[in-house]
Amino acid sequence: MKTIKSLPSAVILGIFLITACQPTKVEDFRAIESPLASIPTATTTVQPTSTASPAPTFTPFLTPLPSPTPTETPRPDIAPTLPHSAVNFIYHGDRDKPYVALTFDLCQKPEYPAWFDQGIVDVLTQNNVPATFFMGGDWMRTHVDETLLLASNPDFELGNHSWSHPDLPGLSEEIISKEIVKTQNLLYQLTGRQSTLFRLPSGKYDDLTLSVIAWNGLQTIQWDVETGDPDPTIDAERMNWAVRERVQNGSIIIMHANGRGWHTAEALPQMIEYLRGQGYTLVTVSQLLGLAPIP
Ligand SMILES: [Zn+2]
Repeated sequence: MKTIKSLPSAVILGIFLITACQPTKVEDFRAIESPLASIPTATTTVQPTSTASPAPTFTPFLTPLPSPTPTETPRPDIAPTLPHSAVNFIYHGDRDKPYVALTFDLCQKPEYPAWFDQGIVDVLTQNNVPATFFMGGDWMRTHVDETLLLASNPDFELGNHSWSHPDLPGLSEEIISKEIVKTQNLLYQLTGRQSTLFRLPSGKYDDLTLSVIAWNGLQTIQWDVETGDPDPTIDAERMNWAVRERVQNGSIIIMHANGRGWHTAEALPQMIEYLRGQGYTLVTVSQLLGLAPIP
């Protein structure tokens, strides 16, 4: 397994690639920023690695993992290593193709237990809607049955949402990498699946964060349509208004399935009906990006 010791060359590559491609992306993001925003805006602050801020007060992974549900063939504890990738920092798919991806984050900080919104899965399943779930490692650790339920649906794609949902900017290479790899390993242990997609906790990043994600072989997936669903005052109608106002070809819509998407399950039937009525095909993020075939 590759170690973090040889990371600097990837960081240099990442910074080069970010320098080459980031400005237009950031402009795009700001241009589409929603008035509903309740998720902190992604920062573009570059954190110089040579002047690191004081050691972050990070409490790493003290809670023991549960025993995975027994399977006939126990899987290795370590997920296969993905090849290093260039920095891919994605807000949307092809604007010329009528595909839209619904995404649901399963965030959990160890000190703030989250839940699982079964109603969302019921609506998606009943309507045969593919979707991508970005799963926190600590959420999976405490929701093994729910993780297996999601993995049992071949229409659901499972992505990586870090282990403990920290703000990644300012953390060390080693800790950022651990947040990613530990989550990859538990996902693989539990489901046999390996994610190639990463969603930033709260959408926050800096150059080092993006480089470490790419070094670990994952693509960073942001969004261009924010429903505002973590805000309990934003009801289902307002969520659907946001979607109607902002959706376009290639859109990635962000919602939450950790029990803090307060009106998400209620909003989904109308959202699905509207999007399909407008001629959009609902796909996973990998399908949206052409990384997986559309059935
Ligand atoms: Zn999150």
